[in-house]
Amino acid sequence: MLRSAIAGLYGPSADDPTLRRRIEPWEFEMFFDPKELRKEACLFYEIKWGTSHRIWRNSGKNTSKHVELNFIEKFTSERHFSSSISCSIIWFLSWSPCWECSKAIREFLSQRPSVTLVIYVARLYWHMDQQNRQGLRDLINSGVTIQIMRPSEYDHCWRNFVNYPPGKEAHWPRYPPLWMKLYALELHCIILSLPPCLIISRRSQKQLTLFRLALQNCHYQMIPPHILLATGLIQLPMTWR
Ligand SMILES: [Zn+2]
Repeated sequence: MLRSAIAGLYGPSADDPTLRRRIEPWEFEMFFDPKELRKEACLFYEIKWGTSHRIWRNSGKNTSKHVELNFIEKFTSERHFSSSISCSIIWFLSWSPCWECSKAIREFLSQRPSVTLVIYVARLYWHMDQQNRQGLRDLINSGVTIQIMRPSEYDHCWRNFVNYPPGKEAHWPRYPPLWMKLYALELHCIILSLPPCLIISRRSQKQLTLFRLALQNCHYQMIPPHILLATGLIQLPMTWR
């Protein structure tokens, strides 16, 4: 309690053991900005065992392998796994898992029924690719929770995984909520096996990322209206009685 209060006032101190897992603020912005289509991925994770209140936190980046595979390798090699103790894992990923990682995650979880996994993602990785879409669906169908990061998750990651400057505990980057809502809408399309409706294009000269919606009848029919309306970009047809 005291440590976190002190950290809030002055930023993480030099001898703070949590510094090892913290990345610099500019790195956080580069990795987790919903509009920054940076190639490499970054993972923050939290592990909780049984009824213990202790949370193990760490972070990882892509090496020659994707971060998800690195996590599985590290977890498997470091932990003497006891299947009688439940284990809950939370990931904060800059990109959603690709289909190959999705497959590896499912294999990892199928061997460990006492593990639950919740994944928050900042962006959907190559979301037009059918294999990636199927990979995410398979993960969700096997019990993994996948959600798009919201402001509360950005706030949480900033406080726990970023070496924020002194006094800037609450200065996590504010991204327009619209981008998160568009990704959430697209994630819904993936879950419902609908065609993509979010089109992302990049103007390389101006470093501009453009988001556009291409909704078809099936989207209007299948996606709950409140999710469509939440984007603020769509007006549903009115029914006059
Ligand atoms: Zn991958």
